[in-house]
Amino acid sequence: MSTKKTQFNNGKTYHGSYLVHKGNLKGATDTDYFYFFCPKCPEQYVMRILEYDIHEYKENNPYNDQVKIKAKNGFTLVFKLYCENCKHIDFTKISNMGLQGMSYDKFMKHKIE
Ligand SMILES: [Zn+2]
Repeated sequence: MSTKKTQFNNGKTYHGSYLVHKGNLKGATDTDYFYFFCPKCPEQYVMRILEYDIHEYKENNPYNDQVKIKAKNGFTLVFKLYCENCKHIDFTKISNMGLQGMSYDKFMKHKIE
């Protein structure tokens, strides 16, 4: 058994497919844990998270000068998702450096543009 840390996605480039774009990757919480539902199979299987990594990190959040409450830093996490049902593999990112504070309605209009 190796203790060597492997590179995220074995060092290969990664980007979420069109299946996760424009609001098509959905999820939900049970308690406070968040789960992603497969965007490919009709069963919308709960996807496993195979790996995560820090995609980007900044000591200073680039939006702090535009808001009253400051974020401690800037980060983007990436997750490699896998569906046991249909074998689909995809990627998604969670970041505090993307869209900043807008209503649900405005976001839903934004995402399809
Ligand atoms: Zn699936």
